[in-house]
Amino acid sequence: MTRVLLTGAAVLDVASGRTERADVLLEGERIAAVGTGLDGDAAVDCAGGLLVPGFVDCHAHVCLGASLGAHDAPEARPRSLRALSAVPALRALLDQGITTVRDAWGADAGLRIALERGWFEGPEVLLSLRQVCTTGGIGDHWAPRYGPVDSFGDPALPDPVFDGPDQARAAVRRMVRAGADWIKVTATGSLSLGRGVHDLQLTDAELCAVVDEAQRQGGRGVMVHAHGARAAEQAARAGARSVEHGTFLDERAVSAMAEAGTWLVPTLSTSHGEPTAHAADHRRAVQLALAAGVPVAMGTDAPVRPYAEALREIHYLAEAGLGQAGALRAATLDAARLLRLQDDRGEIAVGKRADLVLLAGTDLATESLAARVRAVWRGGREAARPRG
Ligand SMILES: [Zn+2]
Repeated sequence: MTRVLLTGAAVLDVASGRTERADVLLEGERIAAVGTGLDGDAAVDCAGGLLVPGFVDCHAHVCLGASLGAHDAPEARPRSLRALSAVPALRALLDQGITTVRDAWGADAGLRIALERGWFEGPEVLLSLRQVCTTGGIGDHWAPRYGPVDSFGDPALPDPVFDGPDQARAAVRRMVRAGADWIKVTATGSLSLGRGVHDLQLTDAELCAVVDEAQRQGGRGVMVHAHGARAAEQAARAGARSVEHGTFLDERAVSAMAEAGTWLVPTLSTSHGEPTAHAADHRRAVQLALAAGVPVAMGTDAPVRPYAEALREIHYLAEAGLGQAGALRAATLDAARLLRLQDDRGEIAVGKRADLVLLAGTDLATESLAARVRAVWRGGREAARPRG
């Protein structure tokens, strides 16, 4: 097994936010040692740079690049386009140092198999397949002219619509049968469609059934799309693992989340591009969450903003109150904790998976992270070298 030594960089300890000059020894897919005076079979000179753990994106859509913002109808496109759109999307994410992605719907289990076989490169992708929802929810593809038009009409992406607790359990079981690692459920409408963002689209019994069934099916976690405060509070009380977006959180919602240990994945990129009508509300929601002690993890919601701009989310988090070190932690160790992968990855420490990013310069400034990426290792293998 080749032992690769990364020499001379400042190494970020994301847990403490401190950097220290050290060498990092990679052996196979793991980090074998961190320290000084180490040797290896091959060396990579990282002097003048900063080594950080590979980034973990807890909310992206790696197969929606061809559909979001497109002007033609989805049914006019060949089915293969959805899956193939993942190839450039994953390349763009990996080039920025994102080595793990939780897909918030759109990718099917074939993508995982293709990545495992090495047909093309990308971050590791955890799947949710579809966003399960009640009739008329944002995962319910229906058109007045045709009635039910499941745009993706594909058994690998099963029917997500349910009404009532028993059907909620069945929807979860359909996702698990088709290979979902996570269950995504939508509890409110959509900010981009501009409707239903403060609604409570699920009954307590329906949401509790989703969470309970996911837990019974191999201890899977539930990610709840919720813009409004009441839906986020309901998600916390139902035992969901994370609230996605949380654009309009209030005191009651964040205290319920803190009490239940519910994570917030703010996806500030959704409100910080154009238009910015909800940017101030969204930042306030993050500040309330931080003050209440709600754990926060990074999710980009790409391609709501282009895949190549994914790392801007880290800067938005820093500015919203996490600070530079806090935002880098939310994008690495804390994101791994949300995904229950913290024993495997998320920091530069002995035994952890060798997912690393080399940034130019040794400071923690988050403004233009993507332009600073010099090399990326995923599982000990150099997976990208965007410049020089
Ligand atoms: Zn999303």
